[in-house]
Amino acid sequence: MRAEGIETVRRILCVFPRYTSSFGTFEYAYPLTDGVQAFMPPQGLLLIAAYLPENWPVRFIDENIRSASTEDFEWAEAVFVSGMHIQRQQMNDICRRAHAFDLAVAIGGPSVSACPEYYPAFDYLHVGEMGDATNDLIARIARDPTRPEQQVVLKTADRLDMTKFPIPAYELADIKRYFLGSIQYSSGCPYQCEFCDIPGLYGRNPRLKTPQQITAELDKLLECGVMGSVYFVDDNFIGNRKAALDLLPHLIEWQKKTGYVLRFSCEATLNIAKRPEILSKMREAFFATIFCGIETPDPVALKAMHKDHNMMVPIMEAISTLNSFGMEVVSGIILGLDTDKPETGQHLLEFIDASQIPLLTINLLQALPQTPLWDRLKRENRLIEDEGRDSNVDFRLPYEDVVTTWRACMGSAYQPDKLLERYEYQIRETYPRRLQPPPSPERASWKNIKLGLTMLRNIFWKVGILGDYKREFWKFALRRLARGEIEYLISSILVAHHLIMFARDASGGHTNASYYSLKLQEASVPAE
Ligand code: SF4
Repeated sequence: MRAEGIETVRRILCVFPRYTSSFGTFEYAYPLTDGVQAFMPPQGLLLIAAYLPENWPVRFIDENIRSASTEDFEWAEAVFVSGMHIQRQQMNDICRRAHAFDLAVAIGGPSVSACPEYYPAFDYLHVGEMGDATNDLIARIARDPTRPEQQVVLKTADRLDMTKFPIPAYELADIKRYFLGSIQYSSGCPYQCEFCDIPGLYGRNPRLKTPQQITAELDKLLECGVMGSVYFVDDNFIGNRKAALDLLPHLIEWQKKTGYVLRFSCEATLNIAKRPEILSKMREAFFATIFCGIETPDPVALKAMHKDHNMMVPIMEAISTLNSFGMEVVSGIILGLDTDKPETGQHLLEFIDASQIPLLTINLLQALPQTPLWDRLKRENRLIEDEGRDSNVDFRLPYEDVVTTWRACMGSAYQPDKLLERYEYQIRETYPRRLQPPPSPERASWKNIKLGLTMLRNIFWKVGILGDYKREFWKFALRRLARGEIEYLISSILVAHHLIMFARDASGGHTNASYYSLKLQEASVPAE
């Protein structure tokens, strides 16, 4: 549904801020693709764009692709911005640029919802999810688009039922320029891990769309040119297990109907390993990757952070169960926990070798507002607000030791030979267990073949000829070529190349040790 009952027409410029470089943005992979420039289409801003009154012209700019221009600001009557904590400085920069054109600027999304005080210059703060605050914001801008004299804070008390959410306005984004497609089925998570702000922001009882909404969104993503993979951005895909089981048959049918042109991935808790009935349906629906917040292999640390559910199945056993359903595990890891010891880094490297997980996002602990961790550290007087630091936590171990361990782990885990060996394992043990989709004209389309050939050419030229880990690359690539594993070659090298290059930056101290760090390593997009 859309906002209704609004007569006046307003032109809205939606601007999504640039990310600072991180594990999960994959920017080193983009030059190997056919024109990818950004990570995933932002769900929140495209959702708001779709909810605005039908007669309101909307422009959407993702500053990861191009900066909002003078012409965009001159066209607009108001600017909407959304983003996460990591984009805080860039969001404030967009506000400053919009104010240079005397435009009213509204901000919504997870960061402002958790920390309204981070955004003192914005005219409107939209705190919470879509609902009565959204209607209020639209009505105010319809009445008067000029900047209010004082900041107006609108808090959602009555959330819009997710079954009434419109399909995000994917048509406004250049979907082909994204590394992955994105989609959301549920919001919220029943667990309460100490460091996580999801339950506080979105609740412990996951809210849901209908399976029909999801298949309609997938249709639209396909229409808009999505290729390759679509990521379910749900906080926890099995936050409501029954809902996951309700959705999966619809996804399976959709895949059959559309010729398995897309693969799916999602985030879920590791205890999904206890649910073979869900895993086998996920396999049938062509889920290929699953992100699990393993956080640490240390049971004492898991207990301390209230993540005992990671131990419902022994961690190694859970990983190999997921692999046995054809799903590669991607793992989140945290360093700097109170339970960490001087030997924690070494134990992490041993865990990586044993688990054979290729991609682990290794971050330093950061205390996010609205989390139990924040409250505890505040009580203990262990929160440090210093933008020159990689974390706001006063660690038990000396700060320099923790950052040095992080750099050493990054440097070691992502050495080309070690990383490509872990991919060899996945190619041998995991990928053959995936669903082998029947040949379909959609998969064998000229568009797909051309895309594959372009990526292969880029990989051979930029990694195989110009790269500086040629020996390891060709050892891996020649095996794939000999076995006809072209698809595996492309998908592994796209991600591996990013990890190798990003880890070099990290171990050389050129990037943040925390995904949420305030330390800005690159300038935000400059104003025109
Ligand atoms: S399981 Fe994941 S989403 Fe849920 S509270 Fe823990 S970290 Fe957050």
